[in-house]
Amino acid sequence: MKLEIKNVTKKFKGKVAVNNFSMELNSGECVGLIGPNGAGKSTLIKVISDIINSDSGEVLLNGKKISKMKREIGYLPQYPNFFHWMTAKETLTFMGQLSGMLKEELTNWIPVILAKVGLEGEENSKVGTFSGGMRQRLGIAQALLHKPSLIVMDEPVSALDPIGRREVLNLIEEIKKDTTILLSTHILGDAEEICERFVIIKNGTKIEDTTITELLNRNNGNKLNLELTSKDQKWIDVIKKIPYVKEVEVKGYKVQIKVENIQKNKNMLLINALSHDVDIIKFEINNDTLEEIFLKLVV
Ligand code: ADP
Ligand code: MG
Repeated sequence: MKLEIKNVTKKFKGKVAVNNFSMELNSGECVGLIGPNGAGKSTLIKVISDIINSDSGEVLLNGKKISKMKREIGYLPQYPNFFHWMTAKETLTFMGQLSGMLKEELTNWIPVILAKVGLEGEENSKVGTFSGGMRQRLGIAQALLHKPSLIVMDEPVSALDPIGRREVLNLIEEIKKDTTILLSTHILGDAEEICERFVIIKNGTKIEDTTITELLNRNNGNKLNLELTSKDQKWIDVIKKIPYVKEVEVKGYKVQIKVENIQKNKNMLLINALSHDVDIIKFEINNDTLEEIFLKLVV
């Protein structure tokens, strides 16, 4: 499986929703498409799933136009629309027949797929009685029903409460083992938990295609945060004189120290502290969190 998104642009009444967007996705990957509300995630996902046409550019699956490869893609919309009066089994039978599956095939397959999403025993329950997490898991069952090689999920956990969120994240973690996944979210933490690769979109434009590790390393701080006891405040005068110390900022018992070559000098500073018998409460590298990095990129 190889998905190629090539220079996709989509406008609504002259307003650009997706702007010359390109990316590739390979078999076995789980990629997070991340961006704030209005960034163009749903629009891009609808183009990928052949729900809407782009104005220019193309989407290829295994080198063929996506419109000819629809069976290879499972799509979970941001707001799945179920008939509340149908049972889980009826819902999947209906959806399966819409996508051209045979009744006999569905009779055998639906119990398997319901078990896969943790809805065994709920075949004959009405969808109207389902929790948010159960509905979303039924949505995933629907997306997996025709055994696609790629599944695309639009904000699969954003609208869920913490319990539903956990249920669905665990399920995606399971599915990931044998399906290629592209999922969108505006909550970085959700993608952080399940995706190795992040593609960040802002105002319709791709601004990053990277991994968690790379993002964190790129923003490795050059500052150290230390917390000392009151008896050791005089050590601060000692460190101010160290050549590799560039800046010292004192806030109560907390000291922020900017040093040259942090990898090497953080250990030197620690040795210095110990040789002065300094009682260290806290000693940390001041890294941006993933959330801070994300905010800097998209705001
Ligand atoms: P996201 O899913 O990242 O929140 P969307 O793809 O839904 O973003 O929307 C991207 C932009 O396109 C937004 O400015 C939105 O208002 C606009 N948009 C999306 N769908 C339509 C539509 N059917 N008609 C007009 N504008 C739309
Ligand atoms: Mg959306």
